[in-house]
Amino acid sequence: MNAEKIELKGLFPEELAQHVSDMGLERYRTRQLIDWLYNKGVTDFESMTNLSKTVRARFDEQFALLRLNCVGEMRSSSTDTVKFLFELPDKRLIESVLMWDGKRRTLCVSSQVGCPLDCQFCATARMGLIRNLTAAEIVEQVLYAQRFLRAKGDELTHVVMMGMGEPLLNFDQVIRAIRLINLDYGAAVGIRRITLSTVGHVPGIAKLAREKLKIGLAVSLNATTDEQRSEIMPINRKWPIEELLCAVRAYYDQVKRWVTFEYVLLHGFNDTAEDAHRLIALLRDIPCKINVIPWNPIDDARYERPPQKAIDRFVDILSQAKLTATVRYSKGDDIAAGCGQLYWEMERGVK
Ligand code: SF4
Repeated sequence: MNAEKIELKGLFPEELAQHVSDMGLERYRTRQLIDWLYNKGVTDFESMTNLSKTVRARFDEQFALLRLNCVGEMRSSSTDTVKFLFELPDKRLIESVLMWDGKRRTLCVSSQVGCPLDCQFCATARMGLIRNLTAAEIVEQVLYAQRFLRAKGDELTHVVMMGMGEPLLNFDQVIRAIRLINLDYGAAVGIRRITLSTVGHVPGIAKLAREKLKIGLAVSLNATTDEQRSEIMPINRKWPIEELLCAVRAYYDQVKRWVTFEYVLLHGFNDTAEDAHRLIALLRDIPCKINVIPWNPIDDARYERPPQKAIDRFVDILSQAKLTATVRYSKGDDIAAGCGQLYWEMERGVK
């Protein structure tokens, strides 16, 4: 990574225009740059053939053009999921997962290299936090997937910030990336089709509400008592369930979009009828839907995938209470498409 150069893919158009103007170049150069970067998808200045050699050389001196090196690509046997493992300029690894579902093409992107939050069911947690991603590194995951799909005559429709890392711990870069992903040029993903998923960073949720972005909010809840939740999600010791739900209600009041709660079902831990009834009581007054996700095992984890009977019972109880609950089977189990799992398997030489 060249520290002196300005990374183009993390800039808003007006910032880019300002840099171009500061270089003493004509205004239309900004449009040309944007066209080459986002419409034509070039990955170096040399390919910008309608610019003179001198202009190309000046851009090359001033700007960096981030390129993620895809070092692993795994497709699930059902072919509805592809997992990309990207090498960053500092050789760190991150991953993104592209999923096909009817007309939806959803990319799950990473916001950090590793994560500091230590959720017990998560492969990324084992890495600890290595560093935050820059906005450009987040945006480029999306642009890569968009190029991948467009080469097949297809289009990316949705983005979820649900990959490696807790997005609200990298707030400024994540919000910048969301705004950039939403711009008409580039990935052009509609704002309502972008979802941020958090494990419950309460001040981050309040700050996000103040941004008044019409993105979706997903909250990874996974338990119905503080004792239970603190056991699998240490963040709960800092911000217990009641505080978290209070922040979510305030978020809904500001943004007026239904919130999604993710509930990973761990057999013998949080999949009983009592858990389902407590969940109903907790969420009764929040306009929300619940995604029930049967646990996708990491080979040496201490939790088990629930049997189908337990999954059905849990969802039936929620549905009888008129909560909108859907079972989401984790896509791409055979390619380790759970959060951080491909990275983990590459590191261990399992792939
Ligand atoms: S589940 Fe998310 S927040 Fe928790 S450790 Fe994994 S990446 Fe971090």
